Amino acid sequence: MADCSQCPLKDKCSTEKKQTCVVENNPYNNVKNIIGVMSGKGGVGKSTVAVMLANELVEKGFKVGILDADVTGPSVPRLLKIQDKRATVLEQGILPVLADNGLKVMSLNLLIEDENTPVIWRGPILSGTVKQFWTDVLWENLDYLVIDLPPGTGDVSLTVMQVMPITGMVMVSVPQDMVSMIVSKSVTMVHKMNIEVLGVVENMSYMVCPNCGTKIKLFEDDTKNFLDSLNIKLLGELPMCKDILNISRSGISAVTEPIKKEFSSITDKVLSSIK
Ligand code: ADP
Repeated sequence: MADCSQCPLKDKCSTEKKQTCVVENNPYNNVKNIIGVMSGKGGVGKSTVAVMLANELVEKGFKVGILDADVTGPSVPRLLKIQDKRATVLEQGILPVLADNGLKVMSLNLLIEDENTPVIWRGPILSGTVKQFWTDVLWENLDYLVIDLPPGTGDVSLTVMQVMPITGMVMVSVPQDMVSMIVSKSVTMVHKMNIEVLGVVENMSYMVCPNCGTKIKLFEDDTKNFLDSLNIKLLGELPMCKDILNISRSGISAVTEPIKKEFSSITDKVLSSIK
């Protein structure tokens, strides 16, 4: 049985969950809240939202880390433009890499020599690696640890939900039938694991006409019905735009004011859902 004294969920946790929560907390770490960011499918902007959320939390004055659990498709270092840095391995544990703003980052790509090398590992090895990112990384004192989960409801996501005391999960979706159907599977999984869904960020919701500024809906999907059917709330809608695309090219410093404002409002809603 795990030592639950430091766990932010210790008062809410069911006996069943405590029995599966077998990973010991690292004695050097005191992480107050863990926010997972999840999607059903890849390519919907999950990592972008995770990085922006972590960044906004730093800007709001919190001590923040980001754990890249998308082990086979790690994109967090690039989104933060720290892909050339490497984590330091000490006897006491692994020191996360610091982004310019003090955000602590751990990703498999910060441990391997060449970021282009693929990891061709089976599920248990992938899950074991992510578990180590929780037990062996020296996160120290954090107000928030944001976890960028892999897409879907596979092995690694299951491990993260079993061994880390997740405070709440943010879902990222795009307004298309096929995607929302798959996101609803993830929502059901999160509920089954007794974890709260904090809400959905709808990405690529619309485009803004460069001539007249009109918002153009790219897809005709009924987001409201989708959210109502799952009883979850909308945290915000993000446009499909070059500003957001540029994050993957030039890092978060490329983000312009209107997009920053949108992310700030999403972050406020995430924080108020946790309280
Ligand atoms: P995921 O983590 O879901 O696989 P990413 O966050 O890695 O998705 O995003 C996939 C690609 O789509 C990246 O190149 C990213 O810059 C781009 N992207 C994400 N959201 C938007 C958006 N709203 N507008 C334009 N490009 C976007």
